[in-house]
Amino acid sequence: MSPRPEQPPRPVSDRGPAVCVVGAGAAGLAAVKNLLEHGFEVDCYERETGVGGAWNWRHDRSPVYASTHLISSRPGSQFPDFPMPDRWPDFPHHAQMLAYLERYADHFGLRPQVWFGTEVVRAVPVAGGRWEVTTRGTGGGDQRTTRYAAVVVANGHNWAPKLPSYEGMSEYAGTMVHASAYKDPAQLRNKRVLVVGAGNTGCDIAVEAAQQAAACWHSTRRGYWYAPKYALGRPVDQVNDAVLALRLPLWLRQWIFHRMLRLTVGDLTRFGLPRPDHKVYETHPIANSQLVYHVGHGAITPVPDVARFNRHDVTLTDGRTIEPDLVVLATGYLPRFEFLAPEILDADEHGRPHLHLHAFPRRHPTLAVVGLLQPDGGLFPLLHWQAVAVARWLRLREHRPDLAAAFWSTVGGSADRPWTRAKVKGSSRHWFEIGHMDYLRALQRTLDDLAVGPA
Ligand SMILES: Cc1cc2nc3c(=O)[nH]c(=O)nc-3n(C[C@H](O)[C@H](O)[C@H](O)COP(=O)(O)OP(=O)(O)OC[C@H]3O[C@@H](n4cnc5c(N)ncnc54)[C@H](O)[C@@H]3O)c2cc1C
Repeated sequence: MSPRPEQPPRPVSDRGPAVCVVGAGAAGLAAVKNLLEHGFEVDCYERETGVGGAWNWRHDRSPVYASTHLISSRPGSQFPDFPMPDRWPDFPHHAQMLAYLERYADHFGLRPQVWFGTEVVRAVPVAGGRWEVTTRGTGGGDQRTTRYAAVVVANGHNWAPKLPSYEGMSEYAGTMVHASAYKDPAQLRNKRVLVVGAGNTGCDIAVEAAQQAAACWHSTRRGYWYAPKYALGRPVDQVNDAVLALRLPLWLRQWIFHRMLRLTVGDLTRFGLPRPDHKVYETHPIANSQLVYHVGHGAITPVPDVARFNRHDVTLTDGRTIEPDLVVLATGYLPRFEFLAPEILDADEHGRPHLHLHAFPRRHPTLAVVGLLQPDGGLFPLLHWQAVAVARWLRLREHRPDLAAAFWSTVGGSADRPWTRAKVKGSSRHWFEIGHMDYLRALQRTLDDLAVGPA
C-alpha cells in the first residue's frame, strides 16, 4: 500500500475575543453562564452528548451509581441564582441532579454555546496570551484548531480512576473493579464482596453490599469519623454551617463535633472499627448514617488494609486471609489534564496542579480552572462564585489593563494556601480539600478586587 499523501495543515480559525470552555458539567455550565452575562462570546466543548457531567448517569464515564444521592444537602448544594424546587428532598437523587442541571442549561440558554460530542485534545498558549484549542469529534473526523482569547477548564476530577498498587493484584483470579464500574446493586447480589476504601463512595457501596451480598468486608487503611447524615433533626452539613457561622476557633469546633459524634454514633471501637488517628475535619468528611448500623448488625465486617492479593484469596495486614468473589476498589479519582502541558498548571511530579485559589495558573493569566475543589460541603455555590471571578477577571483585563496588571502582580507572587484551617492528611484525596467558608471569604476578597466597571 502506498503511504497516504501528507495532508496540508488545516487553517486555524480565529474566534477573536471569544472564550473557550472545556466541559459542560456543573462547572462548565456555570462558567458559560457567567461569561455570557459578562458580555463574552463563548464556545464550550463537551465530549459527551449531553450536559450534566458526573451527574449524567447516561455517560460512560459518569461515576454515579443507581443509588447515588447528594452527600451535601440541598440548600448548600445549589447555585445561588437557581434554587432547586422546595419540594425536593434534603438529599436529592442523581437523576434529580441531572434534571436540575438540564433546567439550569435551558433557563439560561446555555445549550446553543455547547459543541456536544467534541473533545478538546490540546490547548496551547500562543502569542498575545491567546490559546490555540484543538478539538476532535468523539465520533471521528478531522481535528480542528481554533484560536481563543482565553480558556476556562471545567473538565471535572471524578472520572479518571485512581488505582492502588497491591502486591499480587495481577495474579488475582477473582473479579476486581474500580468503583467507577459499579452501577447497580445487582452486581453485588449473593457475592462475597470486599470493598476497599472509606470515601463516601466506598461507604455507600459497602452499605449496598450489606443488603445484597452474601458477605461484605470493608477494608480501610485507617480509622475514620463516620458522621450521620442527620444530627439534631437537620442535615449534618447544615448543623456544621450553623457552628461555623459562630466563627469559633477550630479546636472548639472539633470538640463540638466530637461530642456530637459521640452522642449520635458513639464509640466506633465498640463496633470493631479502628480508632481514628486524626481529629475531625482532618480528612474529607464522610457522611453515612448506615455504615455503622450495618457493622452493628454484622452485615459489614471492618478489616484493615490489604497486604497482598493471592490467586484465590486476599491477605490482610493483620495476617487474616479472606476469599471474596468480587473486589470493589473505591479508591478515588485523580485529576487529569491531558490536553495541557503539565507546566502550564505548574503540576508537580505527582501531577498535582498548583494554582492561585485552585483556579488561576500563575503563569497564564488567560487560563482558569473551575471546579478543582474538594469542599467540606456542596460544590455548586463555589463553582458559581469561581465562575463569576473568572468572568470579572477577564473583563477587567479587557477594560482596565492598568488595574488588571496590579491585581495580577499579587496573584503571580502568591504562595499556595491550604484554604482550610484543619491540618488535612497529605494524600491526593486531599489535594483540593477546602473549608468552604474560608474559601468563600477568600474568593469574596478577590471578587471585590475585580469588581471594577469599565473606565
Ligand atoms: C458519587 C459522587 C457523589 C457526589 N456527591 C456530591 C455532593 O453531595 N455534593 C456536591 O457538591 N458534589 C458531589 N459530588 C461531586 C461532583 O463531581 C460535583 O457535584 C460536580 O458534578 C462536578 O462538576 P464538574 O463540572 O466540575 O465536573 P464533571 O461533572 O465531571 O464535568 C466535567 C465535564 O467535562 C467533560 N470533559 C472532560 N474532559 C473533556 C475534554 N477534554 N473535552 C471536552 N469535554 C471534556 C466531561 O465529559 C464532563 O461532562 C459527587 C461526586 C460523586 C462521584
